Amino acid sequence: MNAKIPLVDISESTADAPEIKELYESRKKIYVREISGYFQRIRRVTLSLLLLMYFSFCWITVDGRQLVLFDIQERKFHLFGATFWPQDFALLAMALIISAFGLFFVTSLFGRVWCGYSCPQTAWSLMFIWLEERFEGSRLQRIKLDKAPLGMNKLLRKTGKHSSWLLISLATAVTFVGYFYPIRELMPDLFTGSISSGWAIFWICFFTLATYANAGWLREQVCIYMCPYARFQSVMFNKNTQIVGYDQSRGEPRGNRSRISAKKAEPVNLQPARSQDKQLGDCVDCQMCVQVCPTGIDIRDGLQYECIGCALCIDACDSIMEKMDYAPGLIRYASETEFEKGRPEKKFDARAKGYALVLALSLVCFSWMMMQRPMIEFSVSRDRGGLYQLNSMGFVENYYTLKIANKQESERYLALNLGDFNGTWSSAALKDRSSQFRIGPGELLTLPVTLTMNPDDIKSNHTDVEFTITTPKQQTVEASALSRFLGPVNLPY
Ligand code: SF4
Ligand code: SF4
Repeated sequence: MNAKIPLVDISESTADAPEIKELYESRKKIYVREISGYFQRIRRVTLSLLLLMYFSFCWITVDGRQLVLFDIQERKFHLFGATFWPQDFALLAMALIISAFGLFFVTSLFGRVWCGYSCPQTAWSLMFIWLEERFEGSRLQRIKLDKAPLGMNKLLRKTGKHSSWLLISLATAVTFVGYFYPIRELMPDLFTGSISSGWAIFWICFFTLATYANAGWLREQVCIYMCPYARFQSVMFNKNTQIVGYDQSRGEPRGNRSRISAKKAEPVNLQPARSQDKQLGDCVDCQMCVQVCPTGIDIRDGLQYECIGCALCIDACDSIMEKMDYAPGLIRYASETEFEKGRPEKKFDARAKGYALVLALSLVCFSWMMMQRPMIEFSVSRDRGGLYQLNSMGFVENYYTLKIANKQESERYLALNLGDFNGTWSSAALKDRSSQFRIGPGELLTLPVTLTMNPDDIKSNHTDVEFTITTPKQQTVEASALSRFLGPVNLPY
């Protein structure tokens, strides 16, 4: 094939020269207009609940333990009364897989509801915008204030807004660190200046600045340019996914008109309600849907990746439709198929079924793993300092370190047994040569143990030894571990 790409000289401006566009566009500040309505109420409830959970969970204690605490130092995770250890990593990985598939499933059915109703970036931005409105007023007042020269009024309003933002950012950061450093220790340590961890101070400063910048300044740019989920979730969409969309067939041609010229629309089947004089669609081109949009897009241009699915444009448009005596739903939740064909299609398609199946299987697997999770974790390691030692009686000794972790939230009384080991054992940590010991809730016990054998009884250079942890009375085996006893078969004396 000899296809040629035509070259055009654009060095000198001619009438035919193509227009050169800058690829970089500087950000235009978005002044979000406050709106109330059905979806805004839902958002406020869900986001407020999530904020309440975030700020309160670290203060709630169960059996003396923080409800949610990722104790990095102790290498334990306390989640809703259960303690997870590094050995439970598979469970945590499974919980993440379940969350991911849960998100995929919901997204394939209802689009970006996560972004619009529960994402932390959305929650904090909503809170910051609410504060902005309290200090600087409505959208128009804020535009006017930003254009006005710096005076006492502007200075006071801006100082109030930024101070409140910084305070909330600080509270957010302290709470966040409180999920890794017990908050009831962190707070007094902070106020008395006796905090021992420099990392805690660093993370508090870092998250204060990050929250202030993300929710106060960057806002929609985080969703548009920084969030990876915003990019890859479009692959979970299909023609049956419920999205926030504009009904072109009903709204176009758009145009301004007086309320009197508008004809009342059919309320149920959402047929276009053409105005009598100009043959216009239902869109009165009021721009309300654009002004309330936190990402500043025009939903009438079609599905865009910037749309976080917050549905505020639905509330805005429905309020206009009500004023015009038109049926609501010019902008609404519907699938692409529904917008094209004018009737809903089945929502639960093959992809959603696939996600639901994997989600259900993961949940079953997770439940099974939880039930099978050993509540006593046990390991034995031989002393690597030497193969064996002879004691003053001429007996052969091997040294071991036993690690026993109690994952339960209650103390346990257990016993150590060595099955058919043909010798004796002792531990300096156990009193009165007893095999029984107590282990506290969530405790990791380290037990040094010495195994002793008469040289005459040693039949092999290495003898298998099974250490078992049992309940003292019923002798039920809770955990066991294999190791070896090393010793010479024939001592040279
Ligand atoms: S277009 Fe804007 S207001 Fe409408 S759902 Fe998307 S992000 Fe929200
Ligand atoms: S709010 Fe509704 S009527 Fe107003 S411009 Fe947007 S789509 Fe048109």
